[in-house]
This record gives sequence, C-alpha cells and structure tokens, in this order.
Amino acid sequence: MPRPQLARRALLSLTPSALRWQSSSIPKARPLTGILIANRGEIALRVNRTASEYGIRTTTVYTDPDAHAQHARVTPHSVNLGPPSAYLDVDKIIKAAKERGCDSIHPGYGFLSENSAFAKRVTEEGLIFIGPPSTAIETMGNKSQSKDIMLKAGVPCIPGYHGSNQDPEFLLQEASKIGFPVLVKAVKGGGGKGMRIAKTPAEFPDMLNSAKSEARSSFGDDVVLVEKYITTPRHIEVQVFADNHGNCVALGERDCSVQRRHQKILEESPAPDLDPVLRKDIWNKARAAALAVGYQGAGTVEFIFDNDTGEFFFMEMNTRLQVEHPVTEEVTGTDLVHWQLLVAAGLPLPLTQEQIERQMEGHAFEARIYAENPDMGFVPDSGELVYLRTPKTSSTVRIDAGFGEGDVISPHYDPMIAKLIVKGPDRRAALAKLRAALGEYEVVGLSTNIEFLKKLAAHPAFIAGEVETGFIDKHRSSLFAIEPTPPEAYAQAAMSVILNGNVQQTPADPFSVWGGNVGFVGSFQERIVEFVEKKGEAESRIPVSVKQTARDTYDLTVDGKISYPSVTAHISPLEKSKVIGFYPHTRLETTVVRKEDTLVVFQRGKQYKLDTPRPAWFEKALGVADVANSVLSPMPCKVLRVSVKEGDRVAKDAPLVVIESMKMETVIRSPHDGVIAKIVHGEGDVVKAGVALVLFEEDSESESTRAAE
Ligand code: ADP
Ligand code: ADP
Ligand code: MG
Repeated sequence: MPRPQLARRALLSLTPSALRWQSSSIPKARPLTGILIANRGEIALRVNRTASEYGIRTTTVYTDPDAHAQHARVTPHSVNLGPPSAYLDVDKIIKAAKERGCDSIHPGYGFLSENSAFAKRVTEEGLIFIGPPSTAIETMGNKSQSKDIMLKAGVPCIPGYHGSNQDPEFLLQEASKIGFPVLVKAVKGGGGKGMRIAKTPAEFPDMLNSAKSEARSSFGDDVVLVEKYITTPRHIEVQVFADNHGNCVALGERDCSVQRRHQKILEESPAPDLDPVLRKDIWNKARAAALAVGYQGAGTVEFIFDNDTGEFFFMEMNTRLQVEHPVTEEVTGTDLVHWQLLVAAGLPLPLTQEQIERQMEGHAFEARIYAENPDMGFVPDSGELVYLRTPKTSSTVRIDAGFGEGDVISPHYDPMIAKLIVKGPDRRAALAKLRAALGEYEVVGLSTNIEFLKKLAAHPAFIAGEVETGFIDKHRSSLFAIEPTPPEAYAQAAMSVILNGNVQQTPADPFSVWGGNVGFVGSFQERIVEFVEKKGEAESRIPVSVKQTARDTYDLTVDGKISYPSVTAHISPLEKSKVIGFYPHTRLETTVVRKEDTLVVFQRGKQYKLDTPRPAWFEKALGVADVANSVLSPMPCKVLRVSVKEGDRVAKDAPLVVIESMKMETVIRSPHDGVIAKIVHGEGDVVKAGVALVLFEEDSESESTRAAE
C-alpha cells in the first residue's frame, strides 16, 4: 500500500531553503483547494482517493452513458458533460472547473492527459494543470521530435528514420537501409495504435498504408517513422518525477513486456534479472531524458531492451501518470498521486534519489482485468457485470477498480475493468500471491481475460522470468490450450440447478428453463440436468443424473460414466450462488451463476462455462435463421470501412469490413471463399453484437460465422 504519511510529513516540512527558492525565481507554492478530475473509471477514483485523504475538494465529470458510473457517484457534485466523447470537450471541462470553484484539473491518463493544447489552455485560464508543462507534453508527444532531443541528450534511440519525408518510395529505401523487419510507427501514436511490422520489402507498402490510415483516424495525423524492429525485446520503463526546484528522481523501473496488441496486460517492478549496473544506467538515462525537456511531475520513460544484444533504446516518454503506476508505489512505499499534487502546488519532491533507493523493497505485480475475449484475438467485450466477487484486499493485495457489480462496461470506452496489484518479499512470493488472488476473481456477464491471466501467471517461462514482448505469441500453444472441464464442475452445476430450483437469474434474463424443477427436492426421483458440449460444429449432450436418496443426499452420475454416490449438498445460506458439496474425502465450494443459456462455474480457482440446451424459441428470437450465410459483428461497434462490394468474389481470410469498438480497429475477415450478396451495414453505421454485416450468396458456403482478426 502507498505510505502517504511519509509524503505528508514532507508537505509540512517546507525547509527554509525551499522557501527561499520560492521567493526568488520559482513560482510560489500554492496549496490546491479544489480539483476537477477530468477522467472516468478507476483513475478518477484513484485521484479522488488521494485528494480526499488530504482534504482537497474534488469534482468529477461524467457523460450520458456514465451517468451511473462509480466515479460520478463518489463526489457530491459531478458535472454532466453530455455525449460519450465529451471527456475530450475542453471548453466544457474548463467551464465545469470554474463553476465548481476548482483551482486545478487532474487529467488522469488517456483522454486529455497528453494533450498539450489542453494543458496550455488550462494554465491560460488561470487554473493549475496537474501534469507537466505543455511544452514538455508537446515535445514528447511526437515520437520523432523526442528522438532528436534524446539523441542530443545522450540517450540511445532505436536506429531508424524519423524525419519529415513521407514519400512511400523514400520510406521504403530507408526501411531497406535499416534492414527488415522494420516497424512503421505513427509519430503521434499511442496505445499501441498506428503501428505495423513490415517483415519484407514486399509487404512494406501495405503496412505503411494501414499504419497511416489507423493513425489518421485515431490521432488526426498520419506522419510515421520507420525503425528497426527488435525481434526479442523487453519493454522496460522508468518512473520519473521532477519538481520545479531542479529535482528529478527515478522511482525504479517496471517490466511491461507481456503485451497483446502492443498493449500491456501484466506489469511488474523491479524488472526480473536486470543487471544492476545496467539498471542504474537506465534510471540515469531516464532522468536525463526528463531533464532534457524541462519536465515536471510524473512521467514514464519507456525503453526497449534487446534481449539478444543486451542494449537498450529510448522508445518514448509518456507525460502523465501511467496505468501501471501502482507497482511502483508498492515497491517504493509512495503515493504518486500525492507527489503529483505536491509538485502541482509548487512544492519540492518529498524524497531524494538516495532515500527512494533506501526504502525500495520487495516485488510487485499488476494484472489488468479487461473485458475482452482472449480466444477471439482479445476483442473487447462490453456489457453488465452481472456478478462480481473480488479477492480480499490486504496490505499486499490491492484492487484499483472503476466498476462494481451491476455496473456496465460501455462500448464507448476502454474495456479495462480493474487492476489487481499484489506485493511480496520477492518475485516468486509476489507471483504466488497473484495466482491466488486471480483464483478468487469471479466475473460473470461478459468475457474477461482472467482465465488467460491465470495461465500467464502459472506459465513456467513466466515464473522463470523469461519475459519478452512476444511472450504470448511464443507460448501460444500452451497459453491457449483448452483444458477439459472436470466432472465435479458438471456435478456441482447440476446440484446448483436442482437445489435452487432456478439458478440465480439476472433481471433481464430471458431464460427460465429450470423453472419447472422447483418442488423436486423431497420427491426422491431421478432428474437429469443436461449440458451441451460444442466441439467446432459438433454438439454433444452431457447428462448429469441426480438421484435423491435421503434429505440433502444424492447419487450423482456425470455423462453416464463418473459416479459420486452419497453426496450431500446444500446452498450456502449466505450466498445463493454458492453450492457446498461433500464428496468422498472432499468438501467442495462452487459458485454457479447463470448468464442466459450458460452456467458460469467457479471451482478450485478456475472458471468453466457450461452451456445448457437453448430453448427453440430463443434461436428464433435472436433471428439466427435470418443471418445464416453471413458475417456477424463480434461486438457492439461502428463500421469504419467496407473493403468489398456486392458481387465481389472473395477468398477465405480476405478483409471484408473494418470496425471500431472502444477506440480499437478490428478487421473482419471472410470465414470462407464466396461471393458477396449484400453489404448490410455501411460506413458509419453503429451496430450491436451479433448483427449481420455482410451476406454471402446462397451457394457460397452456408455457415454463419463470427470472424475477427
Ligand atoms: P454548493 O452546495 O452550493 O455547491 P458549497 O458551499 O458546498 O456550495 O461549495 C461551494 C463551492 O465549492 C461549490 O459551488 C462547489 O463548486 C465547490 N464544492 C464544494 N464542495 C464540493 C465537493 N464536494 N465537490 C465538488 N465541488 C465542491
Ligand atoms: P505506444 O505509444 O503505442 O505505447 P510505443 O512506441 O511505446 O507505442 O510501443 C508500444 C510497444 O510496441 C512497445 O511496448 C513494444 O512492445 C513494441 N515496440 C515498439 N517499438 C518497437 C521496436 N522498434 N521493435 C520491437 N517492438 C517495438
Ligand atoms: Mg508506449
């Protein structure tokens, strides 16, 4: 946990020398009295927590889809900004700050946090921007400009071309000079967007186009740079902090190598097995980078570390608080949001470099819990958190979350649900704690990456610290291996159905297939609860026979093969979704929650999804028959581009439609060879999940497929 008392002491102990500084050239220290938090979700709550702790008033803002969001409910005053995109509405945010009597604005991360024009405007309006000077944001916001400055400051950069010539032929020549593979990167890029790998000269033009087009739509600027693609890199970043008294410190490093779509999902501090000399060198280069741009406040200098050569290169600087800042807080015993407030108030940093190094201890991990489907290329999901149980928090287990049970993960915004942060005396201990805590995380209502994170945290290569950005690809077969569902999961799910009469139902649940079973208990007859197992196109039934032999006692047989005689079972008096069964030699607690036709089962730290037979009317209601021979939208989204015309003959895997959901582009590819009969939704259309986007002609294959890259 952050130790705010340390920093609080520093706030009070303004040294005479610091005061003298302020009376001359340095702006006067001015305590913050009211902060407008121009963000949402967990970071808005995070900033609010520290501000409130120090008695600073806060005001939050929200948009129409966020009217009931937690961050809007934590302050007595929250200002409605209007439409979904209004977190970017500079005028409204500044007006809200002034009207609510705030003297400062905290931008969080994302949204306006790295918008130099916003930072400038806030200052011009007489408010304090809780972040670096706008000039530093501007310089660092441009990946090519920042490289120039870094090279001058003696910070190593990845070999490549980062000049202004954007002629495709010229860029191809530069790429050939660097040597393939190369990475094409939007200079204004962020969030892993606007980035494409070109493995060969032949695919360079395509990759250049697609990087440019994503950059245009995401950042309104399609200038790119080309650099050497490092094939087995690690992502190592340094947390820096600077004040306006000339102090600049490094609060250690974080390894964020485990990524999907160039976006981090597991972060840790310190970086495993980093040579101590190299480690100090990276810290010093990061401090040099910050000083070179007159930095103030919290920043992160990202480096790419070449596993093959042991060299490291500056990649970019993020001029804000990062999502993964908690791992640094845990190992340094600091509250970085408090440090941000101190610096914004014109006060000096609370600790020196030596003090930070002296109090650094232990190892911390952060796992990002996302609403997404790892089995479908990590496409984002959205929907209601129908059921949510989180690990017990303690001095070593922390959860920074923006949403609770009943809240909705909206398709308008980033799909991160929460961050799980754990700490241990060393890496092994912290990782064991991470696995245990993930095992306690239960989410029903949408797809999450929790099962995937469990596999990552238990992977022998990860345990051995063999991290690299290609980790997921390299270990794809073991990370995506399908694990068989244990018979006890079926047995306990069946008991839950029988004992509840009706498994816990969500209010809007269209199913009540189990309704007829109420009143069975006590009638001493055999009942069969059926599950459906899908293997590709094939479907088989898995029956569980439940025979009551005495009060609370049952003989169970799963799939006609595995028998559990004389099981006693009951529903937890505290929680209807929990079945407690006594099997021979085993007391087994299992959570069973129904979401439509799926029973989501949590047992022994793992989640299983058991399908139940769909009632025939449901298929009709869904309109599945009407969308046969079509390609469906995998998630709620907006159609950005349609790459085919009616009558086109397409091959399997040909791009059909580009969609955008949660600010991310996804290419929908053809599931098979065929002829396009109809474009159902065109550019700009906003569609729900499971809606037909493109229809194929009758004689082209007759399967309905959800396909996503
Ligand atoms: P009111 O309830 O009329 O807003 P207050 O005396 O509570 O008046 O506060 C005065 C001003 O300070 C308000 O107009 C508001 O801008 C700001 N303020 C006070 N408390 C809060 C708070 N908890 N959150 C946000 N703003 C606040
Ligand atoms: P963003 O602004 O989107 O975060 P970065 O430049 O920080 O972009 O790169 C994001 C990720 O892409 C890095 O963490 C790393 O995994 C990968 N990456 C970036 N540059 C290279 C490179 N030259 N070679 C290999 N991988 C790279
Ligand atoms: Mg980055």
